[in-house]
Amino acid sequence: MIYDVAVIGAGVSGGSAAMELSKYNLKVVILEKALDAAMGATKANSGIVHAGYDCEPGTLMAKLNVEGSAMMEKLCENLKVPYERCGSFVVGFDDDDKKKIEELYQRGIENGVENMEIIDGEEARKIERHLSHDVKWALYAKTAGIVSPYELAIAMCDNAVENGAEIMLDFEVTSIEKKGNFIISSPGKSIEARYVVNAAGIYADKISKIAGAEEFEILPRRGEYILFDKKAESKVSTVIFQTPSKMGKGVLTAPTVHGNMFIGPDAQDMDDKEDKSTTIEGLNYIKEMAARSVTKIDYSRIITQFSGLRAVYSGKKDFYIKNSDMLPGFVNVAGICSPGLSASPAIGVMVRELLQKAGLEMKENKNYNPVRNVPKPFSEMNEEEINEAYQNDSKYGRIICRCETVTEAEIVAAIHSNVPALTVDSIKRRTRGTSGRCQGGFCGPRILEILSRELNKEPNEIVKSDKNAYIVDSRLREDKHND
Ligand SMILES: Cc1cc2nc3c(=O)[nH]c(=O)nc-3n(C[C@H](O)[C@H](O)[C@H](O)COP(=O)(O)OP(=O)(O)OC[C@H]3O[C@@H](n4cnc5c(N)ncnc54)[C@H](O)[C@@H]3O)c2cc1C
Repeated sequence: MIYDVAVIGAGVSGGSAAMELSKYNLKVVILEKALDAAMGATKANSGIVHAGYDCEPGTLMAKLNVEGSAMMEKLCENLKVPYERCGSFVVGFDDDDKKKIEELYQRGIENGVENMEIIDGEEARKIERHLSHDVKWALYAKTAGIVSPYELAIAMCDNAVENGAEIMLDFEVTSIEKKGNFIISSPGKSIEARYVVNAAGIYADKISKIAGAEEFEILPRRGEYILFDKKAESKVSTVIFQTPSKMGKGVLTAPTVHGNMFIGPDAQDMDDKEDKSTTIEGLNYIKEMAARSVTKIDYSRIITQFSGLRAVYSGKKDFYIKNSDMLPGFVNVAGICSPGLSASPAIGVMVRELLQKAGLEMKENKNYNPVRNVPKPFSEMNEEEINEAYQNDSKYGRIICRCETVTEAEIVAAIHSNVPALTVDSIKRRTRGTSGRCQGGFCGPRILEILSRELNKEPNEIVKSDKNAYIVDSRLREDKHND
């Protein structure tokens, strides 16, 4: 089989490109090195759909942010991905901040952002009652929202597959040769494609280099977070930024679409593209900064901390989305740092246009279905719906995750879905199982059992998230038996 397009990377950029291409009669394959989609920056970020006032006017970032943000609501409705247009504030504490807020407002106007206003602290506190009394000014952007980033990427890939694309997980691209078509290889396997989209996130520089396309550098910039339980007091309902610096948009306090709250991220330039650790210094810094924005933070309700790595292009501050001049048929989608999530719906469209420019012919896929067919989560069903679901599948009668009320039926469906859940964390990203207060303490072993049964694997072959992240080490027991 010769694919028309191979998309490398199943984050929001690759997912969006594949979904857009599946609207046409093309053979598309997504190649992802991890055991799931959304395992790069798309997994660990703030989940904010930015209004678009922050980016430098005239940049791709500004254009795609505003376009993507406008597309997001309808897209999430179609893909059944949690999204909420909750609005955002950039808060200011003194006259200097007020100046910066006015600059952001002007930028927003130039970028075409609608529904923004500058209001004083009192007005702002009427909208967000937890805002600190020290806040004197705020830029209020009503079009800003929040989305579940990993669910968005998984849903985009799922929709692409539903409409004819393929996804290959555990396919780490290690070589790309052009022999007429592109031969793209991972240890022990290879595929052939006419066009390639490089959406490999932090490793997009490496992929471009091994293909023989342009050389550039992608630098990792880490951001750490603290996540709070749904039951935390003084949970905010809007996204609260402080004025930005050259390192980024600063520490924010924000709700998640699942009813939690988080604070973060900081911004640390790193040498190691794999270092997603959290640090005492980083966490203390975000605590200190977040305390400026709100009246109170309920630290008794922390449930976890994590970090993500931004993919920063070493050249001009912008996304690097281009047809390669050196390697016809190869498209780079690189340097997709923030606001890449917000821009992602528009990134897919741009990639499709670039491929058309590069000579790829495409005819509309008349059977394309933009609406994802996913059952309602058990936790949102009414009594009648629960009875009906149980009549159809008795596994709805077994609740596995009690914190988030997730049933065995939903877990089994996730394992056998278009983008199959192969790990314990993949189940979490699709069903919320293990993401509650106990963080998998109770339901984790049950989910492991179900994965083992459904995938026909031994429990000690099931991993938490990445390859080699084994949960059960049965060799210990085997050794004991041998004694
Ligand atoms: C701390 C932080 C906060 C952020 N906050 C926001 C925000 O609030 N709003 C916003 O709009 N944006 C935000 N962003 C930016 C946003 O997360 C990214 O722009 C977006 O997720 C990038 O998606 P991507 O698909 O380009 O890259 P990724 O999600 O990194 O995906 C790349 C994929 O390529 C795969 N891959 C890599 N190498 C190979 C290989 N050799 N073979 C096969 N596959 C490979 C990876 O496994 C990965 O799945 C934030 C980012 C960070 C880190």
